[in-house]
Amino acid sequence: MSRGLVLAALVVAAGPAFAQDDFSFRRTRVVGQPQCLLWPVRDYVYHLDAAGSARTPGDTEVGAIEAAFDSWRAVSRTCSDYRFVRSADWKREVVVGFDKEHRSDNYNIITFRERSCDDVVAGDDVCWDTETCGNQYDCWEHGMGTIALTTSTYSLADGRVLDADIELNASDSDNNPGFLFTTVDSPPCVGVHAPNCVSTDLQNTMTHEIGHVVGLDHVPDVGSTMQPTAPEGETRKRVIDSGSVEGFCSIYPRYQPPNQCVALTNPSVVLQADGRGTGCDAAPGALAAVGWLSALALLRARRRPGARRRAAA
Ligand SMILES: [Zn+2]
Repeated sequence: MSRGLVLAALVVAAGPAFAQDDFSFRRTRVVGQPQCLLWPVRDYVYHLDAAGSARTPGDTEVGAIEAAFDSWRAVSRTCSDYRFVRSADWKREVVVGFDKEHRSDNYNIITFRERSCDDVVAGDDVCWDTETCGNQYDCWEHGMGTIALTTSTYSLADGRVLDADIELNASDSDNNPGFLFTTVDSPPCVGVHAPNCVSTDLQNTMTHEIGHVVGLDHVPDVGSTMQPTAPEGETRKRVIDSGSVEGFCSIYPRYQPPNQCVALTNPSVVLQADGRGTGCDAAPGALAAVGWLSALALLRARRRPGARRRAAA
């Protein structure tokens, strides 16, 4: 079975100050195919990196992450039997992605990357070419304008997701300030970045990334949880919008198999819902419209240190 990889990023940008009542949703499609991504199981079992974030006070990052999951749990209770299951915190080496050679070793992880790979990895390290610097050096290897990245591994044959990991860009680079994830409700930070005001709201970010985990793609609707950009101080993505709710509920109807977005051409592929956990898986405008694509482009065109630049101001 062939597999693909999806990277979904939330980038930073200034956003308009109005909201809409009704938003649409879009599902993440298999690259180059009409099929959409979906989980064949109803439990997303995840681990928090036990290291947490040194830049958030105490364990407040755990509360913010769980608040985001609680919002999705509340949505699921209205229409689905999908569960978000927190498993034991991960105390071993963090590996983002999916190892197809050791399938039983895979797990879904949520981790903070608190160093930029640009700062800690030599320019001639082969990991730049193999795209393994992040795991090898526990660093953020993606665009510095990207707030967070969800990496989903799925079957190219039918879109079934095998693994979804979330990296949060908490890097504090010598060349780029990165993002300060905060966990307070208000007020927005003005001119300073501090834990006692809202800089890059962690719950806001996580609510969006979990949307990617369940198979939702970006929409351009300002105010939608799945809008691809988040200006500093934003918290409104914490509240899951009606379009994202509709999207989730349509993919995972309670006690029904997940819905593919097209009829599969291979009749031997039958999708069934079951209860098994995976157990072991600020420039608005152009960037706002292509956050998804920009993540893929960054992956393909990864530059060596010194030649890299912020994806957004
Ligand atoms: Zn995103």
